[in-house]
Amino acid sequence: MPRLPWGDDASAYAAAFEVWLASPPAELRAATRPIASYEERVAVTSALMRVLFDEGWARYGWPTQLGGLGGDILHRAAMWEALARHGLPAMALFEHLEVLAPTLVAMGEPGFLAEVLPQFLRGEQLWSQGFSEPESGSDLAAVRTRAVAVDGGYAITGRKIWTSWARYATWCLVLARTGTVASRHRGLTAFAVDLRSPGVEVRAIEQANGTDELAEVTFDDVLVGPGRIVGELNGGWRVAMHILSHERGTFAWFRHNFLYRQVLDALAHGEPAGDALLGDALLDLAAVRASSYAALRSHAADVLLGARATFVKLHLASSEQAVQNWRLASDADLAVGIQDDEAAAQRQDYLFSRIVTVYGGSQQMQLDTIAKQILRLP
Ligand SMILES: Cc1cc2nc3c(=O)[nH]c(=O)nc-3n(C[C@H](O)[C@H](O)[C@H](O)COP(=O)(O)OP(=O)(O)OC[C@H]3O[C@@H](n4cnc5c(N)ncnc54)[C@H](O)[C@@H]3O)c2cc1C
Repeated sequence: MPRLPWGDDASAYAAAFEVWLASPPAELRAATRPIASYEERVAVTSALMRVLFDEGWARYGWPTQLGGLGGDILHRAAMWEALARHGLPAMALFEHLEVLAPTLVAMGEPGFLAEVLPQFLRGEQLWSQGFSEPESGSDLAAVRTRAVAVDGGYAITGRKIWTSWARYATWCLVLARTGTVASRHRGLTAFAVDLRSPGVEVRAIEQANGTDELAEVTFDDVLVGPGRIVGELNGGWRVAMHILSHERGTFAWFRHNFLYRQVLDALAHGEPAGDALLGDALLDLAAVRASSYAALRSHAADVLLGARATFVKLHLASSEQAVQNWRLASDADLAVGIQDDEAAAQRQDYLFSRIVTVYGGSQQMQLDTIAKQILRLP
């Protein structure tokens, strides 16, 4: 795929990073081999983040007062694009750096953020996103988890589900009800909750692909102290929309680079089949590259995507499935169950691609948003 221009500042950063990558550190080499075990993948990716932080690369794109070195999302986009090109297969649980951290930085309490953001960037403490509940997925405004004002802060009680990376995370951004049920989206507040607090229970959910990315998290009268509200009291919906602009929009830039990496690897190592399927995958990747690049530019100019993010999310889901359809057609091992690490990692990728039409809002809900908010259909 052609390299896209970053602008002067991020281009200089990208060029310097490329020079550094010419002699890759052992931590990058370790993270580029296929690893079936999720725990091991998390450990090697965390080790890589530590080196990238200590050498300064992972601090660009984040504000200096919060432990960063300045710059914007284009620096981060250039860093992950280069890492994918140099063989990194995925962001693993650092996906939340590009889903949650921009919103935390924009709306979190600065003193708290100055403490926790560097730990996140350095791979020491991770974050998860506690939105969905058993009775509130597509209908996010129906969240039932309650936060009640008490001495010393708020007490949170409720149950979240499908919470990615909760098993590995220290923090969870929890959307909880501070208003009445009837107030719907106007009665929600976002809290930064320490998952080590008394009353929190995290139970991993093993997925069909053998990973335990997802979890169920219960909160039983969990005390959340002052300074842990992200955004305003009863302003949780604004926080959620800010996150979704990243999760549905800019995140596709970060993810699609890894899909493209997989196509190149498969072309280099196998005897790939299915020209038509490969064509579909490359066309979809070109579409997501174009739409996610526009999303990056929009965020670099501080403009949220709103309903436009749905197009990017649909492009990403479509390209993820097209790439894995082609890989399956090209490599029978994926289907017949050979158990080496490479085949196991490929199988995980394939099975994950079947659920990408669900996270961040289901495909039907994205189409519903386009129909109502963009096409203004009745
Ligand atoms: C891999 C993965 C990671 C995830 N990570 C997280 C996470 O970190 N944090 C988090 O909070 N959540 C996470 N989720 C949950 C995800 O956001 C929800 O699964 C999603 O919003 C759908 O909600 P639901 O599962 O409750 O399905 P439901 O809302 O019950 O929907 C079931 C089906 O009905 C359809 N449907 C529902 N309402 C309508 C409607 N009004 N019109 C048309 N069709 C409708 C949906 O499209 C879907 O096909 C993750 C999900 C996946 C698959």
